[in-house]
Amino acid sequence: MSAGRGARGEAGAARAAHDDLADLELTPERMTALGADVVERVVAHLASLAEQPACGDTDVAALCRQLREDRAPDAASEPAALLDPFFSSWVGKSFTTPGPGYLAFIPGGGLYAAALADFIADATNRYVGVWQAAPALVQLEANVLAWFADWMGFPPSARGLLTSGGSLANFGAIVSAREKLLGPALRDGVLYTSTQAHHCIAKAAKLAGILPDRVRAIPADGSFRMRVDALSAAIATDRAAGLRPFCVASTAGTTNTGAVDPLEEIADLCAEQGLWHHVDGAYGAFFHAVPELRPLLAGLSRADSLALDPHKGLFLPYGTGALLVRDGEALRAAHAATAHYLPPTPDGDEFYDASQYGPELSRDFRGLRVWLAVKLHGAAAFRAAIAEKRALAVSAAERLARVPGLVMDAAPQLSLFAFHLAWPGATQAQCNDATAELLAAVNARQRVMLTGCLVDGRRLARICVLSFRTRAAHIDAAVQDVAEEAAAVLESHHRP
Ligand SMILES: *Cc1c(COP(=O)(O)O)cnc(C)c1O
Repeated sequence: MSAGRGARGEAGAARAAHDDLADLELTPERMTALGADVVERVVAHLASLAEQPACGDTDVAALCRQLREDRAPDAASEPAALLDPFFSSWVGKSFTTPGPGYLAFIPGGGLYAAALADFIADATNRYVGVWQAAPALVQLEANVLAWFADWMGFPPSARGLLTSGGSLANFGAIVSAREKLLGPALRDGVLYTSTQAHHCIAKAAKLAGILPDRVRAIPADGSFRMRVDALSAAIATDRAAGLRPFCVASTAGTTNTGAVDPLEEIADLCAEQGLWHHVDGAYGAFFHAVPELRPLLAGLSRADSLALDPHKGLFLPYGTGALLVRDGEALRAAHAATAHYLPPTPDGDEFYDASQYGPELSRDFRGLRVWLAVKLHGAAAFRAAIAEKRALAVSAAERLARVPGLVMDAAPQLSLFAFHLAWPGATQAQCNDATAELLAAVNARQRVMLTGCLVDGRRLARICVLSFRTRAAHIDAAVQDVAEEAAAVLESHHRP
């Protein structure tokens, strides 16, 4: 008996300890305190962005080894023990992507309003994967897609999807085109893109079952735009060989030089040939939201589908991409699916259900991120900021074009331009070395961060202005640093 009572006592004590440990809920006071602590740290971090080096030290293999942790700790930690090193050490060991000096790759910034939206979305944690589970919240996401369609000149019958980025938006477009135009017979289908396309186009094609031997990289002209004569010839050659051309993936703003393919001519050719015209606007599409800049993207609104990256041109944090498909039914036909354990999908097409337009079922409430940011600032502020980024790029390119030895390979069509260093008698290899030295020297000053690219064997330096935090003063710094370092690099190459 006594042994039995002892055992029961132990079990009871264990259950009590368990109950304590199993309680993951926080008191309202604790939630408030933790939240305030995090907000304070985040705001201090953001307020110091302009003083942070434009590129942090990422040569930190030793730190990564130190950070390795192969088993999760059983014991709880104090928040400061986690947040202190995060903010004081780890986060800075990175490209300063949200900083005003970030002119590398394709910037965006990351609006604070979007971070608040993510906090709200995660904390309220409603299920937006299917319409029936949170119809009013899903409507906010549908509104965002309608705004995008409006800005891009797409009809109200267009449907879309918020993705994690441009790569998956391009993937969804190619899958929709494939389903509509090829059906089950994929093997003969041919997709056309240009030598300047983002590598995710070929990757998306492959994931969609269009293998590399059915993807044609059409050559570009002197302005890095897809050559429509070469496209037309390639389509004819493939047809003559018994293949089935089905899709052209053009680019509205290439990653290398910011080139906008001749969208109008490609749209004409696709219409004449019965092909699907997909436009990769991951970098450039949001310039179409600004009415006075629309001529730069003429033809974009005729596309059958369009990939956008709100985490670039709408200044949102990473993880926000979007796809629009003119024939909303084609997007739905490629993705619609249901099951008996799910609530019914909405009748007709008045209400939007993301699970019927994309590959995911459960997903984060990414729509709130866009919705809150746009509503809080107003669309006019976004248009002004986008137009300002283009004006800054144009002004920087004009000033840099006058720098001795600096050759402008691609003037800004949108807000990205590319250039290299050269001098009389220099070989391409010498120019490539000098341009690489220029990039390294500018970046070493830590006021701006630039990256380069290799086009047809030539190394180019590039400047892309697309962070909302990049203003005139940062562009002045960029111009000064490039001009001074260009002079120094040229001088060093002229020395015997
Ligand atoms: C950024 C970019 C992509 C890839 O988008 P992710 O959001 O990185 O997946 C594709 N195409 C172009 C033109 C881009 O600029």
